Amino acid sequence: MKTIGIYGGTFDPIHTGHLITAQSVCEIRKLDKIIFIPSFISPHKTDRISSSPKHRINMLKLAVKGIPYFDYSDIEIKKKNISYSIDTIQAFKSSYKNIELIIGYDNLIVFDKWKNPDELLKLVQLVVLRRKAKEEKSQQNKYFKKAIFVETPLIDVRGTDIRQRVRSGKSINFLVPQKVKAYIYKHNLYKEKA
Ligand code: ATP
Repeated sequence: MKTIGIYGGTFDPIHTGHLITAQSVCEIRKLDKIIFIPSFISPHKTDRISSSPKHRINMLKLAVKGIPYFDYSDIEIKKKNISYSIDTIQAFKSSYKNIELIIGYDNLIVFDKWKNPDELLKLVQLVVLRRKAKEEKSQQNKYFKKAIFVETPLIDVRGTDIRQRVRSGKSINFLVPQKVKAYIYKHNLYKEKA
């Protein structure tokens, strides 16, 4: 039976931190594929205006093109509203029985603030990516016991830094795929502070 990974985020832009860790989790968890799902508006980032969903999904498409174990879905973008993982996962459950929800450690710390986290964990296995060499132990909640922690490579790349680098005229080589870099420059993304 197929097992898929769902990897949600703003992906503003998709970067090597996402891609390398996704590839690694795909191998470690023996997933058939990983589906990247950009949010229309992230429930966790309502204080920041993201690039348009069209740009974010276009960059995602460029990044996963030709990679057989990566895919994307525009399900949350089409809703044109705040999407919650529980609703997205419920929609995928009719097509896939085994779903692993992939999140970064920073998201696990605030997992108790997600919509219906207990319900959500009845539908998926939570799989957590490392973000730092040494994570803060004091911030644990009850969901830590239910999560699987994967020894993915530590890639210290963040969307915030990439946007900042573009704004200040610094190179973003190696931080995003070449095609994503070309897209960012062609469409003048991240030139102004959001
Ligand atoms: P920003 O700086 O804009 O908040 P981000 O890259 O951290 O950007 P998202 O694009 O929303 O944020 O990330 C989507 C998911 O990927 C989240 O679960 C986040 O924890 C995880 N993630 C992002 N970057 C990395 C990375 N370098 N290594 C592992 N996980 C990551």
